[in-house]
Amino acid sequence: MDLELTPAEEAYRDRLRVWLDDHLVGEYRNYLGVGGPADNTAWDVRIEWEKELAAAGYLGITWPVEYGGQGGTLNQELIFHIEHARVRAPYWAGVHGRDLFGPTLLHHGSEEQKRRFLPAICRVEELWGQGFSEPNAGSDLAGVRTTAHLEGDEWVINGQKIWMTFGMHADWMYVLCRTNPDAPKHKGLSLLLVPADQDGIEVRAIRNLANGREFAEVFFTDARTTSDLVVGGVDGGWGVVMSALGTERAGATVLPYQMKFEQEMKDLIDVVRRRGSEGDPVVRQQLAKSWSGLQIIRWMTARTLAAAVQGDELGPESSISKIFWSHWHRSFGELVMSLRGPEGLIVGDGYHPDLLQKAFLDSRAETIYGGADQIQHNIVGERVLGLAREPR
Ligand SMILES: Cc1cc2nc3c(=O)[nH]c(=O)nc-3n(C[C@H](O)[C@H](O)[C@H](O)COP(=O)(O)OP(=O)(O)OC[C@H]3O[C@@H](n4cnc5c(N)ncnc54)[C@H](O)[C@@H]3O)c2cc1C
Repeated sequence: MDLELTPAEEAYRDRLRVWLDDHLVGEYRNYLGVGGPADNTAWDVRIEWEKELAAAGYLGITWPVEYGGQGGTLNQELIFHIEHARVRAPYWAGVHGRDLFGPTLLHHGSEEQKRRFLPAICRVEELWGQGFSEPNAGSDLAGVRTTAHLEGDEWVINGQKIWMTFGMHADWMYVLCRTNPDAPKHKGLSLLLVPADQDGIEVRAIRNLANGREFAEVFFTDARTTSDLVVGGVDGGWGVVMSALGTERAGATVLPYQMKFEQEMKDLIDVVRRRGSEGDPVVRQQLAKSWSGLQIIRWMTARTLAAAVQGDELGPESSISKIFWSHWHRSFGELVMSLRGPEGLIVGDGYHPDLLQKAFLDSRAETIYGGADQIQHNIVGERVLGLAREPR
């Protein structure tokens, strides 16, 4: 993949810089660097910001024009993320629709579904929640018990989902349901698109370690959606979900993450300078090691995105990237806390961790979501290296 910019790309970058200078003003400047994939801070401000980006054509850069995208190039997308992170613009709120569900629908959705849902995602008019996990089905996702059956031309859904990121804000949910109880575990599942605003759905927020009301549990009691809103065919949900998880582990989400990690690294270097320890050889060694890991993430992300843009589906190799970046960030969080010393342990009144403290706390969840660490190791062992399968 070519990261050298052509003159046209340089011009694109320069226009974007001017746009960011002109628009990242006023209240937005109170929220520089705020937010994250697992952080609902300043929600309304972040949504407003994303609507401005959408109106200017900076969302859905590589998506086809007929689905509300810009029909742009991967390099334009990379330029956008680099510049967006450079000025510390507020972090994504619409991450689930744009970076997870959207790419999945692009691959597996019907023409009608793509035309109906993708433009609204690009315009930040409809937000999405991922309804895969249940209290007794996380790693063993094929064990989901939420059911859906057809009544006339509607699906009727009953069951419970949990850990739905930003579920309180979702207008729509993509929900993995058991539609054929008689089929083998993996074969009787369907992915349904369900409107969140209806009597049959109750959403309860769950507070996380960093004091964010980040995710939710969702109860379905005779909830309904129309019969055509199945992605990948009835009982064909398993393949779609695996593809969605591949995207989550190593796809588009990793690029914004990576840019955020780079900002956190700069913040940590500032802390070290303020504490006067930048000349300490041990500290320098720790920072250099961490920085090197970040460069590896950068190249892994570039390779994955290049494959995605060529239309290659993300396969089990995405687990390698997930293991690497989640472990890197967890070690980075630990390094932050160790280099800050006792000062890093102080949280102000009302328990509002600062950005680096949040990085430490949030990183604890990253080896869990998108498929827990041990599961990723199993996938690499069995499906990449071809080792003996885990006894089941
Ligand atoms: C911050 C956050 C956001 C999330 N957002 C969403 C979301 O938006 N939508 C959604 O559907 N889900 C979401 N999840 C849920 C997430 O996908 C699950 O937590 C994850 O898949 C693990 O499932 P579990 O929690 O049920 O743990 P379990 O599956 O019970 O696993 C517990 C432990 O046992 C290990 N384990 C399990 N099976 C095996 C095995 N066969 N071999 C070896 N070890 C094993 C696991 O690795 C883990 O360490 C989120 C989770 C977090 C933390």
